[in-house]
Amino acid sequence: MSTLQTELIDLQFLGYPLAIAAYLLDDGTDAALVEVGPTSTAETLLRELQARGVALERVRHLIVTHIHLDHAGALGWLLQRLPNAMAYVHPIGAPHMVDPSRLLSSASRLYGEMMERLWGEVVPVPQERLHVVRDGERIEVAGRTLRAIDTPGHARHHHAYLDEATGILFAGDVAGVRMPGTTYVRPPTPPPELDIEAWQASLAKLRALPVQQIALTHFGMFSDVERHLDELEARLLNWAVFTRDLIQQGVSESELIQRLRDYGNEEMRQQGADPSNYDLGAGYELIALGYARYWRKKLGLS
Ligand SMILES: [Zn+2]
Repeated sequence: MSTLQTELIDLQFLGYPLAIAAYLLDDGTDAALVEVGPTSTAETLLRELQARGVALERVRHLIVTHIHLDHAGALGWLLQRLPNAMAYVHPIGAPHMVDPSRLLSSASRLYGEMMERLWGEVVPVPQERLHVVRDGERIEVAGRTLRAIDTPGHARHHHAYLDEATGILFAGDVAGVRMPGTTYVRPPTPPPELDIEAWQASLAKLRALPVQQIALTHFGMFSDVERHLDELEARLLNWAVFTRDLIQQGVSESELIQRLRDYGNEEMRQQGADPSNYDLGAGYELIALGYARYWRKKLGLS
């Protein structure tokens, strides 16, 4: 029987370690990536594959948890260089990979002039190289079966993938952001799709699965699955109350961001975690703006 390898590749986003991961699944014949990162790190990804002796022809599956550019931006660019690869995308995200214009204008509103430097070019994915993945679908890759689990909350176009052979859950952003060697879990809640109720339902789905390890894109693999998910959910809800109260008091956007930053960083100090790496994966600005949008809609504010 062949050995199943699951290997984390650090994409060295903007030159920083521990920001964005891709996972290489390899049985010696068939190779797959779960998450591909943005185009700005795609050359690094190809170099890392070659350094591991993975011939580019062997990479047949590019699976992304959702279409945010830090997870999926490189798909089209990579398909041009990986002749036998297919892209696997959530049904809601798939049209925006074929025609990225709306994805790009939405991201431009958040990142402005930083777009190119952060993410690089976003090449459209040809329809014929796109596999649209249904909820519950099982895909056979690299000697194992990955089960797709529809997990909205962070984004509507989000799947988590359970590797049924190893119990590894590739969780994208629905299981939060956490750095190696720390316990602290930060909820990434960017606008415009944050949906706290949907997120809680997604976490309930994940708790019902036979998960041995959670593989986060930001950043790494963790075995204390139940504690991790409990902490994420508690903080998601706690920050929701914290931001709701400030929004109802009418604080400005910049004050909301600053107050959440002070609050979050104090929590991190108490758990002995360093905020800087977390800020690369999920900065307070987007987190605060995501909650603000969620609450304005929910509370019927303008
Ligand atoms: Zn995301």
